[in-house]
Amino acid sequence: MLSAALFILAAASIHAESPKASDLDIKVRRLSPHVAVVGAGPWENSYVAIATQKGIVVIDSGFSKTIASAVRETIRGEFKRSEFAFLINSHEHSDHTFGNSAYSDVPIVGSDLMRTAILRMKADPASVAERFRIPEQSLARSRQDLLKDPKRANSPQVAQGERFWKTVQADYTAGVEFVPPAITFDRRMTLNLGDVSVHLFNFGHWHSDADTIISIPEEHIVRLGAILYAGHLPVVKNPYGPQEALTGVMMDHWIAILNEVLAQADEKTQFISCHGWTVMSKAQCAPQVAYLDKLWSEVRRAKAAGKTVQQAKETLTRARLFPDLAGLANEGLAVPNIHEHNIDALWSAAP
Ligand SMILES: [Zn+2]
Repeated sequence: MLSAALFILAAASIHAESPKASDLDIKVRRLSPHVAVVGAGPWENSYVAIATQKGIVVIDSGFSKTIASAVRETIRGEFKRSEFAFLINSHEHSDHTFGNSAYSDVPIVGSDLMRTAILRMKADPASVAERFRIPEQSLARSRQDLLKDPKRANSPQVAQGERFWKTVQADYTAGVEFVPPAITFDRRMTLNLGDVSVHLFNFGHWHSDADTIISIPEEHIVRLGAILYAGHLPVVKNPYGPQEALTGVMMDHWIAILNEVLAQADEKTQFISCHGWTVMSKAQCAPQVAYLDKLWSEVRRAKAAGKTVQQAKETLTRARLFPDLAGLANEGLAVPNIHEHNIDALWSAAP
């Protein structure tokens, strides 16, 4: 009798701590028999899971421990397997790493920059105070939206969003355990998982302090992170990235990595961002990389020829140099004129 009562109590408390995936707007999309993308929360984070001969590999954990546990549980249910081989962190932002402790039994893999970034947060949580305010700010915004449009109160998405942020907020109040990667690499690393290989490329500072591109050629998958977007031109000197000066070394490094990743891809490859379901093809990504490459060399050439930045802007127009990118918007990531912004940024980096 007593043990039955204890069991019920334990079950009730587990339930209270572990909201169901459906309560948190967690959804799954299969990209192939071995690859699933788990979409979670109002930011539409996409967590990628690859079922391999040597266990499941997951890319990114989640906003917080409870969210990451629900994502992990969803992946386990989707593949009907519970051996997790690795968790990979693609960049250090809270929505990708603050749930790492849900994988404390699994080796975490990340770049040296990633390990440094997480250890920095651990040593000085105040440095990410802004990140801890996200749930509270999102809840406040959602309430304001409801005041403007009370009919939205009946929308299941609004209720799921509220539950999601309240869950994250409760986790943050309880305290985030910052778990750095235990397996690290400097430039490149390949994880051999039997039937598939997972290639990690340290991209460095673009959207964050520790951007990593992950390519799984056998499954025709590239997790591109927040580097290229389907709808607009790539933004050099990403406004959400580190604020240091752009250098030529950085530009050459980014272009070289993107070309290496493209070389591993083929027409079947699906490039997945870290948010949303949108999948890009090689035919969409390659011209964007060619754009970066060509604009960088043209800007250097113009500067070396003694032109002014204004003259460069007049000659290096999209219409003249990049007619095949006409379908991409010139505005995005809070940058109103991306092409001009890019020329200014590259000009400052050119010798
Ligand atoms: Zn991010």
